Amino acid sequence: MPEIQRRKTVTVKIGQVKVGSEAPVVVQSMTNTDTADAASTIQQVAELVEAGSEIVRVTVNNDAAARALPHIVEGLAKRDINVPIIGDFHYNGHLLLKKYPACARALAKYRINPGNVSIGRKDDDNFRTMIECAVENQKPVRIGVNWGSLDQALLTRMMDENSKRPDPLPARDVMLEAMCRSALDSAAAAERYGLRHDQIIISGKVSGVRDLIDVYQMLAARCDYPLHLGLTEAGMGMKGIVASTAGLTPLLLAGIGDTIRVSLTPKPGASRTEEVLAAQQILQSLGIRSFAPQVTACPGCGRTTSTFFQELAQQIQDYLRTSMPAWRAQYPGVEELKLAVMGCVVNGPGESKHANIGISLPGTFEEPKAPVYVDGRLMTTLRGDTIVQDFKKILDDYVRSRYGSREHELETTTV
Ligand code: SF4
Repeated sequence: MPEIQRRKTVTVKIGQVKVGSEAPVVVQSMTNTDTADAASTIQQVAELVEAGSEIVRVTVNNDAAARALPHIVEGLAKRDINVPIIGDFHYNGHLLLKKYPACARALAKYRINPGNVSIGRKDDDNFRTMIECAVENQKPVRIGVNWGSLDQALLTRMMDENSKRPDPLPARDVMLEAMCRSALDSAAAAERYGLRHDQIIISGKVSGVRDLIDVYQMLAARCDYPLHLGLTEAGMGMKGIVASTAGLTPLLLAGIGDTIRVSLTPKPGASRTEEVLAAQQILQSLGIRSFAPQVTACPGCGRTTSTFFQELAQQIQDYLRTSMPAWRAQYPGVEELKLAVMGCVVNGPGESKHANIGISLPGTFEEPKAPVYVDGRLMTTLRGDTIVQDFKKILDDYVRSRYGSREHELETTTV
């Protein structure tokens, strides 16, 4: 696959995680627990990290949350989880960071929304206070502009200026320009107040896909700060995943974006980790990073009248998901494994040959046998009631012999 040319940026260090064009695109997520409830927040951060989140953001919205923060970081460390925790501040961040220095120290980065602090108004003391805290504690910040809370003074001024032009621009263009201006002016102000250029990440989140693409292209052309990408308020389930993918894909393919989040609204009681898996899947589908073995499965059609093929595809997918935490540690490189589970012999053998391991199940009226291809060659033909177990065994053996031996090679070279 041709390599994607990443847009050149400075590298920002968030705890032990590097963000920027010299580093892989980082997956991040955000908790939805009450931060003041340290036990629940620790548990959810642990789940997000287990799913693959490399940075986790928590809201720090009041005194109780700021007080809980150091305990959360400590509790995670006790569980051997050292993921950078980002504090999301709005309105009162300047007060909380000053009042709770332990919170300011425990966080790995501060997210500041310029629309919700004083920047842009006559006196920007609140913004300045937050930046001074960041400088004092040597923490990077994300200047996170959001169109839902865009600096209203700036937007009004720009709209007024635009209306006086002989050829006024559409309101949308002015709004996107205001977002860029808000982000870049705030970043410049942060540098004036002492933050280093390589301690700043920028984001400009909107909820419309085309607006997202345009605003990030504008930001990318005007600065070399790393960019955090995400469609804000993407929505629930399929709508949120499709809209986020549609928005992020052209940007990522153009080399724009150094961290991503897929902001999904989970169903009540559903796991928060879906947003992490969605972000990983976007990056893996684009060939940018690999996180888990991929299963190619045909959609099925009138040739597959039984549900056996769908069940096998699902079982293999579930088996991979549950095996991955152990496999990741034991078998380096296993995330690049490709499987094919096909419904019949029409495309089955062909697709199977492109995968590391592929199986073609018998379609309706086909002979009840399932040829299995390994690394492009017919390895065996499975029959009978044990096709699923037999296929899993072939998979286990393949993973052990291919990726286990790599681990062995690494061990022997380091001895
Ligand atoms: S591989 Fe066979 S079962 Fe699957 S969609 Fe194609 S024709 Fe239908």
